[in-house]
Amino acid sequence: MDDKILFTRILGIHPPWFIKELVVAEKEKRIDIYLDHEAGIRVRCPECNRFYGVYDHSLERVYRHLDTCEMQTHIHVRLPRANCPDHGVKQVDSEFGENGSNMTFAYESFVISVAKECNIKATGRLCGLSWDQSWNALERAVVRGQSRKEHRVPKCIGVDEKSIAKGHKYESLVYDIDKGTVEYVYDDRRQESLESYYKQFSRKELSQIKAVAMDMWDPYIAATKAYVPDADKKIVFDRFHVMRHVLKAVDKVRISEHRQLREIGEQILTGTKYLWLWSQENIPVWRNEEFEALRAKDLRVCRAWAIKENLRHLWSYRYGAWMRKYFKRWYFWATHSRLKPIIKAAKTLKSHLDNIVTYARHRITNALAEGVNTKIEKIKRMAYGFRSRSHYRTAIYFHCGGLDLFPRSPARPSLSFKTLCTQHVGGTH
Ligand SMILES: [Zn+2]
Repeated sequence: MDDKILFTRILGIHPPWFIKELVVAEKEKRIDIYLDHEAGIRVRCPECNRFYGVYDHSLERVYRHLDTCEMQTHIHVRLPRANCPDHGVKQVDSEFGENGSNMTFAYESFVISVAKECNIKATGRLCGLSWDQSWNALERAVVRGQSRKEHRVPKCIGVDEKSIAKGHKYESLVYDIDKGTVEYVYDDRRQESLESYYKQFSRKELSQIKAVAMDMWDPYIAATKAYVPDADKKIVFDRFHVMRHVLKAVDKVRISEHRQLREIGEQILTGTKYLWLWSQENIPVWRNEEFEALRAKDLRVCRAWAIKENLRHLWSYRYGAWMRKYFKRWYFWATHSRLKPIIKAAKTLKSHLDNIVTYARHRITNALAEGVNTKIEKIKRMAYGFRSRSHYRTAIYFHCGGLDLFPRSPARPSLSFKTLCTQHVGGTH
């Protein structure tokens, strides 16, 4: 079979396009395919969809295509332009690749699929692209995905802060809790960081938010109260963040007690840190005996542990009033424990109680986005390869944004034979 016929078939080249020339450079492992179109065709103005005769052609465009038997394959084409009386000289929509891209739709989709599985460096290596070329494909994918994204406010959102790299730089992330996607990433964890998300929406749109999960972090609380109607009833402090305050207090009690015991030569708390932090059911079986023996002793950390374990029952209540009642008893116990870190944590919780008990109704946490969190942690580990903070954000949208990233060829044909043009449109010239 003739080379041109073979490539016309495997590349799916349709009239009026045809292969004018085919150059196979075996040594360089490269194939260059030069396309042309038949004469006498009509071309579509991309603005108004009317067909006109060919006015002139663009400069040659070269699209990288999927390799042919490990040979880099490039398609060369000059795209015809129409001279529309309303829109001026316009190049037809390319059916080979997106405007501004030097990859065919098929190749760019392949690069995106690889980038979903790998970091940028590996993507470049596997696709035979430079770091910049791979990154451009990823960036274009995010821009494409965001332009297709519906403008809507999620019903339940989660707001979280993420530290990136060293130097305690933060990003604020807004999740759609139901979809498990990252909706928004913004510099820092200030009030303005979250407000810049809310500002995209009207007050009416924001009133559709049913609940907002967040840490007990004043700037986020202030931003939400300033923008979301009835925020008082909608803010839910993330239960894992709430528990973390008490866990930190338990650990402080252990550290100080361990220090005192060591001074009198007693080492029983050595290596026990996580025994007190794990939930009781998560303690490894092989450490049960050791833990029971510790609990039999009159230790301050043991009391702190019991107070922490009891607070966990709070989350099982279905009514805010019952949660309050349970908390009241727990609070009395905690504040009479003579354990300073525990008393401090209990007071912090009490001052935020109104939006801890909202959990009873909304039952949301940021941990619903756990799968997303795992991905973000992975992105953070790769962050050194991103070269800038805006790259980090792009990577989060790419991997966690739930966006429709893949390029699509134009829905309508850009070229038409003369005889067909009258069926397509009226008003041709
Ligand atoms: Zn036009």
